[in-house]
Order: sequence, then C-alpha cells, then structure tokens
Amino acid sequence: MSGVNSTFEEIARALEPAKTVLVASHLRPDGDALGSTIAFALWLKSLGKEVTAWNEDGMLEKFRYLPEADIVKQPEGTGRKFDAFVALDTSVKNRLGTVLSAIEEPAIFVNMDHHVSNGRFGALNYIAAASPATGEIVFEFLKDRGATITPEIAANLYVAISTDTGSFQYPNTTARTFRVAAELIEAGVDVGALSQAMYDSQPRRRLELLRHALNEVKFCCDGKVASFTLTEADVARLGVLPEDNEGIIDHLRSVDSVVAAVFFEDLGGGKVRVSSRSKDRRVDVCKVCAVFGGGGHALAAGARIAGSISEVEERFLKVLCDEVRGID
Ligand code: 5GP
Ligand code: MN
Repeated sequence: MSGVNSTFEEIARALEPAKTVLVASHLRPDGDALGSTIAFALWLKSLGKEVTAWNEDGMLEKFRYLPEADIVKQPEGTGRKFDAFVALDTSVKNRLGTVLSAIEEPAIFVNMDHHVSNGRFGALNYIAAASPATGEIVFEFLKDRGATITPEIAANLYVAISTDTGSFQYPNTTARTFRVAAELIEAGVDVGALSQAMYDSQPRRRLELLRHALNEVKFCCDGKVASFTLTEADVARLGVLPEDNEGIIDHLRSVDSVVAAVFFEDLGGGKVRVSSRSKDRRVDVCKVCAVFGGGGHALAAGARIAGSISEVEERFLKVLCDEVRGID
C-alpha cells in the first residue's frame, strides 16, 4: 500500500511481464465501471495477454450496447490465480465483492480510480480525485502509453465519461474532459447512436419506478432535502431490477430548493442501500455516508447500512440535515 501515485509508466512496466491479467470493477456497476473495464481489457488483449474481465454482477442488460460487452463475466471458481489484477473505479476493496473471493491476490495489484475516498489498497495505486470518471484516467493512461484508441475502446471510454459526468454536466467536468471526448469522437464514437443507447432506451418498468418515486417523494429541512424509499414489496410490485434505480434520484435533485437528494432501497436481510446526491459543494454527502461506513464523491456517495428502512431513513436524514443546516 502506498500514499503516492505510481506513474503510468510504472504501472505499464509492472503489467508487462504478466501473461494472465484480471480486470474488475465495483459491484452494482455503472457505465464508468463497465466502460473502463472493457476499454482496459481490450488494450491488454491488444498486447497479446490472456485477459479476464469480471464484475460481481456480470454485464448488465442495460449496458449490452457497449462494444465487446460480452468480455465482462461474473466471477467463477475459487483460488483462481492471475499474474496481475487491475481494479478500476473501486473506492474500497470490498466493493469488488465476489471477485475477491474467487482469486488468490497477485503481487501485481493495480488500483486506478477517481474516488476521493479510495483506500489505496493496491500495490500500485493511481488515484486522481479531480478526474470526473475513471474512464478519463484510462484514456490518459492509454495516451501516455502511445496505445491505439480503437473505435471500440473509444465508445467504452465515452460512455464511462458521459455517464459519470451526468452527460458532461457535473462540476468536475473540465475543458480537458471535453478535449478527451473530442478525441474519442475523432477515434470513431457515434455520438447520436451512443447517446440514444445511454439515455433514450430505458425499459418501461423504469418509468414505473419513476412514477413510484414521484408519488413517494418526501421533503424535509425546509425543502432542501428530498428523499424516497423503495421497499422489497415495491420492487416485487413494480418488477424493477437493481440497475433500473440509477438516475431516478436526479429527478429529486432537479428541484430548485433541493440541495441534497437521497434514495433508500431495502436490500432485504436487514440491509438498506443509501444513494445520495448533493448539488452544493458545501454539502459533502461522502462525509455523511462515511459516518455510516460508506463513501464515494463529495457530490455523489452511497452506503449500505444495517437496520430497517424506516430506521435507516431517520438516522441518515438526521445527519444529512445537520450537514445541510451547516451552510445556512
Ligand atoms: P450510487 O449512489 O450511484 O450507487 O453511488 C454513488 C457513488 O458512491 C459511487 O461513486 C459509488 O462508488 C459510491 N458508493 C455507493 N455505495 C457505496 C458504498 O456502499 N460504499 C462506498 N464506499 N461507496 C459507495
Ligand atoms: Mn466512476
């Protein structure tokens, strides 16, 4: 473990002798996790390596449009040995989930990520908290290495960056991000087709989930905090999948008075998943989630908390409202 970043050159040199490489990202993956994984895996393959790409949840249906999506599988076996392991977009080691329980951890363990709360659990770490997406870091890495950005790699990185920046809207989106996007378009990204796949191809049940959220939404803290809950019974009634949840919270955050939005999802077994968003730098939801053992970014963070959904809701909102009142 190390407090300083390895250079891209050091990481590439460490990977050089490896014949078999595992690439993986955090469970409940988003576009950044899966896009970065595929892009990195494709680059390693182009070097002639035997590459395995894993995610606890495998390839989600909603990201099937990613070029070479099939490369991502669910972990298999136990005690599996790889010469090197590259973890991407993963803030804490245990968010690799069942990937970890399937392997014997290799000495060459690379951790590339953009979460400020990253635990630097690799043997080689490259953590860039200012990067809006791990996909942007992977792009910088590939450029540094003089790699060819194929249309397939470009599309995966474009999706990684577009989804993690809320379509180039969040404050961590920089001029550099747009330059990277421009280079990816020059490398073969079809912006219209990919945007439609990302943002205009939702299953209808997701609209039903949004209907539920809009019916359930509660405001507190003078309208500065909006939240909604999803119980196991709601999930059964609506027939929604975990991957349908992403982005619903943005509708709550879009209200002018709202500073922070929260989504509480009953995972069963006495565990509740909390997903939170802030649109004011002074309200750090990562800090609030850290109180409950979670983490993420200042403006987008999560946690898994033990308790009933109503208990967790009450405890979390109390800490969050204290944080929100602090900016008055
Ligand atoms: P989301 O709310 O979309 O699930 O996650 C927002 C951000 O918080 C992501 O960057 C994600 O990695 C992080 N995050 C979500 N849940 C957890 C969690 O349980 N623990 C930690 N450490 N980070 C989380
Ligand atoms: Mn990310």
